[in-house]
Amino acid sequence: MSDPVIKGWCPGALRPMMSGDGLVVRIRPRGGRLTPEQAKGIAALSAQYGNGLIDLSARANVQLRGVTEDAHGPLIEGLAALGLIDETTEAESRRNIVVTPYWQDGDGVQEVVRSLAKALGQPDAPQTPGKFGYVVDCGNQPVLSETSADIRIERGPGGVLLVRPDGVGSGAEATQQTAARLALRLAEWFLETGGAPDGRGRMAAHLARGARQPKLFTEIPALPRASAPAPVPGPLPLGYLVGFEFGQMAAETLSVLAESGALRITPWRMILIEGAKQAPAIPGLITDPADPMLRVTACTGAPGCPQALIATRPLARALCASLAPADRLHVSGCAKGCAHPAPSALTLVGRAGGAIDLIRNGTAADTPSRTGLSPATLTATPALLTETQDAP
Ligand code: SF4
Repeated sequence: MSDPVIKGWCPGALRPMMSGDGLVVRIRPRGGRLTPEQAKGIAALSAQYGNGLIDLSARANVQLRGVTEDAHGPLIEGLAALGLIDETTEAESRRNIVVTPYWQDGDGVQEVVRSLAKALGQPDAPQTPGKFGYVVDCGNQPVLSETSADIRIERGPGGVLLVRPDGVGSGAEATQQTAARLALRLAEWFLETGGAPDGRGRMAAHLARGARQPKLFTEIPALPRASAPAPVPGPLPLGYLVGFEFGQMAAETLSVLAESGALRITPWRMILIEGAKQAPAIPGLITDPADPMLRVTACTGAPGCPQALIATRPLARALCASLAPADRLHVSGCAKGCAHPAPSALTLVGRAGGAIDLIRNGTAADTPSRTGLSPATLTATPALLTETQDAP
């Protein structure tokens, strides 16, 4: 079996990635929010230049699929007219920011995001690796503790604003005016101290290897970060949260959603419709918090991904009703596990020849407890997923 190809960078709009169904063009909404005009515009561009399918990513981005090389230029022009394109590929790559979707006017979150985005757009901003990212989680309640990031802007004791390197329990006190500057200082320190020796690297791994963060970032202890319960669709004080099967929707769905209000893109592959009291009655939305599809993750798989060894989504659909109530299932087309890098109660991984391995409480790269399964075996014997002991 050949190992999956690790590219070490994520697609953007200006630097799209080729997939099995054409270019993947990933848009980073500013402040984690699309105005109705932007959302409608993206839907129209997806239908015109892509294959009409739109994904939500775990970094709260929106990606268009099925774009041809010839269509990329006109698509970028259209996105630029909507205010969705950065000045350079490097600036786009650096502006890797996930924002709490629960920000409110007056809580300072959007001000911090704007100043951070502006600082990262400067030509002399630290050129961190492609996957290096930030979360701005300084709203009333932390909700991004489980979202991958290298630098975290959050609230510390007494509500103080804190800039913290991922992987340690302390950070530097900040204000709305200084948070971006401190975050970039930390990114510079990461590069200067060898955090990305071959152009790749993450903050937590750098610290785990023994790097000591600058003294300034040891002064304020972080608050214990209890895991927030997984968000579910439904009404919220700020609007209505809706989910999508595998985080994917048709362009028409996005267009109709935009008629209900501005859209906050979440890292949970859901959208918060600002101010909405109910979800529009259109196909393709998950609005039932008990829908088992909310506990299923599956990457694009075959045929959309050239590395995929199995078709993931039909199998995930077939098995979702068989899951034990609290279990989460991740179906991965190969050992790379792009759709869910973290451990899952159940992970099915495609292997050479179309065989499937089952991993319990691990990631797609972990040791399987069962090997050589097939889609037919799994769908005919779903008890394989719920049994507590695997056959020797
Ligand atoms: S995990 Fe899925 S999407 Fe990622 S490379 Fe493998 S098959 Fe492709």
